[in-house]
Amino acid sequence: MRLRFWGTRGSLPKPGPSTMRYGGNTPCVEVRTADGQLVILDCGTGVQGLGQALLAAGEGPVRGHLLITHMHWDHIQGLPFFAPLFAPGNEWDIYGPGSAGQPLQALLEGQMAYPYFPIALQQFGATIRYHTLVERAFQIGDLRVTPRYLNHPALTLGYRLDTGAATVVYATDHEPHMPYQPDVALPGVGSASWLTHREEQGHMAFLAGADLVIHDAQYSLTEYQQRLGWGHSPVEYAVDVALAAQARQLALFHHEPWHDDDTLERLVEACRQRVAAGPGTLHVFAAAEGQIMDVPETQSHTRPHGDDPAYLGEPATTRARAHTVLIVDDEPQTVRLVTDALRPEGYRVLAVSDGEAALRLAWAERPALILVHWHVSSAQGLEICRALRAEPDPPLHRVPMVLLASQTAGEHIAAGFAAGVTDYLPMPCKPTYIRARVCGWLLRTRLETAGDPSFSGTGHRRQMTL
Ligand SMILES: [Zn+2]
Ligand SMILES: [Zn+2]
Repeated sequence: MRLRFWGTRGSLPKPGPSTMRYGGNTPCVEVRTADGQLVILDCGTGVQGLGQALLAAGEGPVRGHLLITHMHWDHIQGLPFFAPLFAPGNEWDIYGPGSAGQPLQALLEGQMAYPYFPIALQQFGATIRYHTLVERAFQIGDLRVTPRYLNHPALTLGYRLDTGAATVVYATDHEPHMPYQPDVALPGVGSASWLTHREEQGHMAFLAGADLVIHDAQYSLTEYQQRLGWGHSPVEYAVDVALAAQARQLALFHHEPWHDDDTLERLVEACRQRVAAGPGTLHVFAAAEGQIMDVPETQSHTRPHGDDPAYLGEPATTRARAHTVLIVDDEPQTVRLVTDALRPEGYRVLAVSDGEAALRLAWAERPALILVHWHVSSAQGLEICRALRAEPDPPLHRVPMVLLASQTAGEHIAAGFAAGVTDYLPMPCKPTYIRARVCGWLLRTRLETAGDPSFSGTGHRRQMTL
C-alpha cells in the first residue's frame, strides 16, 4: 500500500509559518493498493489538494472510495471542494456512520444545505453511492475494510485496512475509554490498568499487528488531563496502545491546532523515549502533510477481524425512537442528564430508582439498553447486572448494560465486567458521549442478533429476584 497524507491537523485548519513542516489542513489520507484501488480516509480540507492532483493526472474517469470517520466539520468540510465529485463519468462510493437513525447521505446533505453552502449534494455530477456503515467488514477489491466504533462524542468509526499482506489502521478522534494515566510499569507490556476496560481490549485487538497505525494523538498528557471528554488522546496513550497491539509503526495524527512544528517534534521525541524505556519496538513519527510512505506487502497476515464475508450493513435506517432505554439511578441529576441527552434523539427513556423496580420494568418493557448507576438505593448496581445476566431469556440476558460510575471507581471496573457489564462510562460525562455510546451499542446489538431466532423477545416472563 502507498499512502499520502493530505491533511493531518485536527479540529481546525491551521495554515501558517508555525505549521509548515507538519501542515495545517484537516484530516485526509490517500491510500493506493497494489490492485489499483483508490481509498481516501476522511474528507477534511486536505482533500481539496488531492482532488486537484487527481484532475491534473488526467487519467480519465476516476473511480474511488471515500471512508469518512464521522461528521465533525474537520472530517467533512473538504467534501464540497473535492472536484472529482463534480465530474460526470467519475464513480465514487462514500462510506461512513449514520446517526440516531439518519443515514449517511442525510448527514452529508446537512452540511451542504442552502444556508451553509450554495451547492447541494444532489448537484455532484459523478455517479455516487452512499453506504451507511455499521461494524461489519466489507471488501474493496482485494482490500478488506473493518470498521470499529471509537470513543468520541459523536458516532465515529475507525477503519482497519487489510490486504492480507499489509495492514493499516486509521483510528482518529478517539479518547481512552477510562481516564488514562501512564503506567508506572513499562509501557506496552499488556497488563496496564487502562487495559482493564473491555473496550480498550477491543481497541487493542483492532490495532493488533498492524504495519502502520495512524492514531489520534492530539494532546500532551497535561492538555489531555484538562480536556477529559473532548474526544482525543494524549500521545503517551497512542504509544502504549500501539505497543500493546504490537504494531510496527505509529503515525501521530490529528495534531492540536495550537501545536507548532517544534512542539510536535518535542512530542515525537518524548514518544520515542517512552518506547525505548520498554521492551517493545515501535517506530513513532508525526504524520506530515505531503508525506508519502509505502507499506510493503510482504508479510503474511492473519485477519483478526471481520471474517463475515457479507457486504456492509446498508443502511442503518431504523429510527432511534423504536428503542427504549432504561436508566436505573437514584440521583435525579444523572437521570436528567441521560434523559436530556437521549429524548431529543427520539429514544424512549424510562427511569427507576431502585433495583427491584428495575428488574420488574426490564421484564415488562424489554429495553434495548440499560444504564445502571454504580450505587442505587435498594440494591447495588452490580447486583442488578448479575441478576439480569443470570436470566436464560435472550433479550434480557444479552441486553447491553452500561455502568455509570465515577472516575475514581477505577478499581471496581474489573468487578463490573465480571458481573456482566457491557461497558463502563466514567461520570461525569457529556450528553454527546451518552448519545454516541448508546447509538453504538444499539447498532452493535442489532448486528449481533440479526437472524438469531432466540432473540425474538417472546421469552416467558417470570419473577426475578436480586
Ligand atoms: Zn477531528
Ligand atoms: Zn471529531
